[in-house]
Amino acid sequence: MYLSLVTVYDVIIIGGGLAGLTAAIHLRKEHHRILVLEKERYPHHKVCGEYLSNEVVPYLQFLGIELPTTIEINTLEFSTQKGRSLQLSLPLGAKGISRYALDNCLYKRAIALGVEFVFCTAESIEFREDTFTIRNNHGQEFKAPFTIGAFGKRSNLDKTLSRNFFAKKSPWLGVKAHYKWDEFPDHLVGLHSFKGGYGGLSKTETGAVNFCYLVTYESFQKRQNIDEFNELVVAQNPYLANFLSKATMEFKKPLSIAQISFEEKDPVEDHIIMCGDSAGLIHPLCGNGMAMAIHSAKIASELIHVYLKEGQMERNTIEKEYALLWQYFFGKRIRTGRRLQKLLMSPKTGNMLFSMATLSKGMLRRIIRKTHGKPIKV
Ligand SMILES: Cc1cc2nc3c(=O)[nH]c(=O)nc-3n(C[C@H](O)[C@H](O)[C@H](O)COP(=O)(O)OP(=O)(O)OC[C@H]3O[C@@H](n4cnc5c(N)ncnc54)[C@H](O)[C@@H]3O)c2cc1C
Repeated sequence: MYLSLVTVYDVIIIGGGLAGLTAAIHLRKEHHRILVLEKERYPHHKVCGEYLSNEVVPYLQFLGIELPTTIEINTLEFSTQKGRSLQLSLPLGAKGISRYALDNCLYKRAIALGVEFVFCTAESIEFREDTFTIRNNHGQEFKAPFTIGAFGKRSNLDKTLSRNFFAKKSPWLGVKAHYKWDEFPDHLVGLHSFKGGYGGLSKTETGAVNFCYLVTYESFQKRQNIDEFNELVVAQNPYLANFLSKATMEFKKPLSIAQISFEEKDPVEDHIIMCGDSAGLIHPLCGNGMAMAIHSAKIASELIHVYLKEGQMERNTIEKEYALLWQYFFGKRIRTGRRLQKLLMSPKTGNMLFSMATLSKGMLRRIIRKTHGKPIKV
């Protein structure tokens, strides 16, 4: 039984991760009435490599966001399962920042601007007569002419919306924890592979080293738990063995998420404009998912603003335009990431690729360019 009290907004955003918070800030800056529905209270940790590409910095500044970090990453260290390694300077570079701090910083900015939040789980979305009605797990109803779906990689709403990828089992699992290891350099991001997966190492604003890896179930399920997996599989890579033997975990236990899907998704579904991972997830080895989430929120916000403020575009045109822009900016990156992941995960092609990359750093630079965007114009 739903309560009859209904509140009307200009835009309702489901999911207050990076995509949702960015869109909320952008649209609120344009004076629209914005509601964010988010399951979890801030701040909280998330499974993520916490490498934030600098391409988003000008746009975050435009939104009035000052990043609480001094960690500047400008070098990639890459190693194979057997520990063959190379270093490469990164053309754009990145910030090392925890999701705990980053999401919370955006949340505070959104609150300061007057974005409204309800902490709940959105359970259903209905679109009728040009209006969305969203119901949550407390029986409340909210209405708006626009809804942004920013509910991440996998949500109850993907099932409700019968999205194709949801029915398919995904073989990927993500694990992350912060560690104390002072000797790890601030400017470095490590990308180290092991049987069935790969992991990233980089510093965050607290000085802690974030170790986050992606692994297949097939590889993981042969072991009892994360400790055993780390010891017997991850530590086969000498770089990771050195890290695990010297670093001390700061979390009580690592965070993990299952069923990470890299399948294609539609950027617009049932008139909902999807942003961030809800529209498509790039392989984490590219270190570009957060930047894409933020950038997609900018594209969606600009189009929705035109519709709400100037009434110059039909809803259909907005949807088509968004889908086209999404493909234009992110389609190629996602496809390159997919191909790269396949090559790296096979020891044979992984080694071949590595040998080629050692011979030609130019090739590796081209790959990095293809999986990243240019600084976002504001
Ligand atoms: C292992 C791994 C490592 C990664 N490393 C990096 C990296 O180093 N650099 C990088 O740029 N990217 C990285 N990524 C990708 C990056 O984490 C994502 O692309 C980014 O978090 C996307 O942001 P988002 O806002 O779309 O989703 P999220 O940040 O996941 O936010 C979605 C939000 O929606 C909420 N939600 C879901 N369902 C509901 C509901 N029904 N009602 C209310 N709220 C709901 C959730 O609670 C969540 O807060 C990595 C990803 C993985 C899996």
